[in-house]
Amino acid sequence: MTKRIFNFNAGPAALPLPVLEEIQADLLDYKGTGMSVIEMSHRSKAFEGIINDAIERAKRLLGADDNYQVLFIQGGASMQFAMIPMNLALPGKPVDYIDTGTWPTKAIKEAKIQGKDVRVIASSKERNYSYITKEYNVDKDASYLHYTTNNTIEGTQWSDYPDPQGVPLVCDMSSDFMCRPIDVKRFGLIYAGAQKNIGPSGSAFVVIRKDMLERTPEGIPTMLKYTTHAKENSLYNTPASFVIYTIGLVMKWLEETIGGLANMEKINIEKANVLYDFIDKSSFYRGTADKDSRSLMNVTFRLPSEELEDKFVKESKKAGMDGLKGHRSVGGCRASIYNAVSIDAVKGLVSFMAEFEKKEG
Ligand code: PMP
Repeated sequence: MTKRIFNFNAGPAALPLPVLEEIQADLLDYKGTGMSVIEMSHRSKAFEGIINDAIERAKRLLGADDNYQVLFIQGGASMQFAMIPMNLALPGKPVDYIDTGTWPTKAIKEAKIQGKDVRVIASSKERNYSYITKEYNVDKDASYLHYTTNNTIEGTQWSDYPDPQGVPLVCDMSSDFMCRPIDVKRFGLIYAGAQKNIGPSGSAFVVIRKDMLERTPEGIPTMLKYTTHAKENSLYNTPASFVIYTIGLVMKWLEETIGGLANMEKINIEKANVLYDFIDKSSFYRGTADKDSRSLMNVTFRLPSEELEDKFVKESKKAGMDGLKGHRSVGGCRASIYNAVSIDAVKGLVSFMAEFEKKEG
């Protein structure tokens, strides 16, 4: 018998069991082709069906119309940090960023490396990124406004959209993509590393408004141009075919089993409430993010000492859980409760936390 644990890893992370089972069933013979998806040509009819199905399902889930194009680009979200200023910065115009954590800081660094006129128009750094800053002034002349919906390391999340005051809004949704409905019309570009909420690692998922493609300058490398990937339906070169196939299966699960992103959000709110309510009632555990900035996806918390945190993580593994150690840069503990993490897993975690507190508190 296969033993599955409660997986709270931050990414790569838990995938829905029906998705893994379908992959297992398809592995030796994908729908009568006599081979697996990882063995077939990315130019084959079968793969063309796989990629187009993934795109169509994603667009339906997002409510994205034909002004938007879905792209799969390797290099993860970190490659997008570089591609965005390279493609979307307008000559002589600034690029605006809101800095709410470690990952936006890295996005800012990549724009600066390219010599862009970067304006960090707001930051929550002075309080260790424990909240989402809402005070900012966008330069109406800016090429775009970049922000990060969910701060994976610090456990904070935007509950609303920032107002880009007329300039295109660009967003890193790596750690909360499709955890709730998204008003795509507000965005010039959305990107997400696949490995948290929608698939395995190996590709970024990009949704770009087609007029943004007109900004790509001539003099940058072919593979770093959005236009290259857009013209070829993400098949300019060999794509991360297994990742795209798995994303397609996750899209099917979201559509057919969950019933869309509004339902997904309800489930995610229920899961997060179970965990935060428990933490708030306890005097042993302490949440690190301001309450009005808390993330539905990454729940960060501390115990009374680092020794107890180490013991907590060790014992959680013995109890059949994984991934509860906080990011090495901030310490503490973190439970990532992405779409595929069940309410039973969250309840299991809360029972374990209650027992640990009884023993050690
Ligand atoms: N942005 C956010 C919000 C992230 O959480 C991460 C990864 N943890 C990244 C970007 C970087 O993603 P990748 O590893 O795909 O480059």
